[in-house]
Amino acid sequence: METKLLLGKPVAEHVKNDLAEKIKILQNNSIIPGLAAILVGDDPASKVYVKSKSKAFQENDCHSETHILSKDSSEEDILNLISSLNNNDKIHGILVQLPLPKHLNSKKILNSVDPNKDVDGFHPLNLGSLLEGSPNFIPCTPNGIIEILKFYNIETSGKHVVIVGRSNIVGKPMFALLSQKFKVGNSTVTMCHTGTDDISKHTKTADIIIAAVGVPEMITADMIKNDCCIIDVGINRIDDKNRDKGYRLVGDVDRNSVLGKAASITPVPGGVGPMTITMLLYNTVKSAFSYSK
Ligand code: NDP
Repeated sequence: METKLLLGKPVAEHVKNDLAEKIKILQNNSIIPGLAAILVGDDPASKVYVKSKSKAFQENDCHSETHILSKDSSEEDILNLISSLNNNDKIHGILVQLPLPKHLNSKKILNSVDPNKDVDGFHPLNLGSLLEGSPNFIPCTPNGIIEILKFYNIETSGKHVVIVGRSNIVGKPMFALLSQKFKVGNSTVTMCHTGTDDISKHTKTADIIIAAVGVPEMITADMIKNDCCIIDVGINRIDDKNRDKGYRLVGDVDRNSVLGKAASITPVPGGVGPMTITMLLYNTVKSAFSYSK
C-alpha cells in the first residue's frame, strides 16, 4: 500500500485563511494582534525559532517584537520585563523561548506570564483547564496535530493512540486532548516513555502513533501495525556530508522503513513543524479577540 504523506503546509494555510478574516475584523476595530517573544542568551536554534515566529506574524499582518536579553540576565530582570508586557495593551501574547539558561528558574518565569496572554499554553492554569476539558490556550504543537488529524479526516474516536514521550510541551497535552470526549479525541490513549518496558508491545497495537521523543528514527517498521497513522513530531539533526550544511533533519520515525506499511505519516521536515507557528498565531488572535470584548 502507498503511505500517504500528511503535509503540514496545506493545513497551516487552511488555518491561516480562517485567521485572516478574524485579523481583519480586529484591524477594523483598531486592534493588531501582538506577540512579544523573550529570548535569553544566544542559543542558535532558539534564535532561528524566534525569527521564524516573528516573520510569520509580520506576514499575517500581526505585530511581533523580540526582547533579547543577555545569557547572564537575572531572574528579576526577566520577571520585570514579563510584568511590563503583562500590562502592555498592545501585547496579546507573550512567549518565553525555551530552553532558558540553567541559572534561571524556568517554572517561576513561565508561571509569571499572565494566563490570558499565555499563548504557548504552558501556564498551570491553562494546562489545568485543558485537563478539565475546557481549554483556553492549548499548547501549539499538540493543537497543530489536532488540526492535522481533522484536516485529513483521520478518525480518532474509539481508536488506540500511542504517544511516545511525556514532555509538558507535547506528550502530556496531547494525552489530555486525545483522551477527552472531543470531536477530535475520544481515543484510548497509551503513553510511553523511558520507563516503559517494551515500547513496541504498545506501538504494535496502535491505530495512531504520536512520536515525540527526540531520538532520531527510533520507531521502525517492525514496531508498527499495518495501516496505522503516524504523527512524527521529532526534529533531529544528523550528520550528512552530502548536504551543504553538513547535516539533515530526520524525525523520531524511520520514515523509509515504515513507507508501504503505515497508511499515513507526517514527513520531517514539512509535517508537524509548520503547524506549531500557525497555532501560535491562532492563540494570539484568540487572545486579541478576548481583550477586544
Ligand atoms: P523532551 O526531551 O522534553 O521529551 C522527550 C520525551 O521522550 C520524554 O518524555 C522522554 O522520556 C521520552 N524519551 C526520550 N528518549 C526515549 C526513549 N529512548 N524511549 C522512550 N522514551 C524516550 O522533548 P520534546 O517533547 O520537547 O520534543 C520531542 C521531539 O519533538 C524533539 O525532537 C523536538 O525537537 C521535537 N519537537 C518538535 C516540535 C515541532 O514543532 N515539530 C515542537 C516541539 C518539539 P522521560 O520523560 O522518561 O525522560
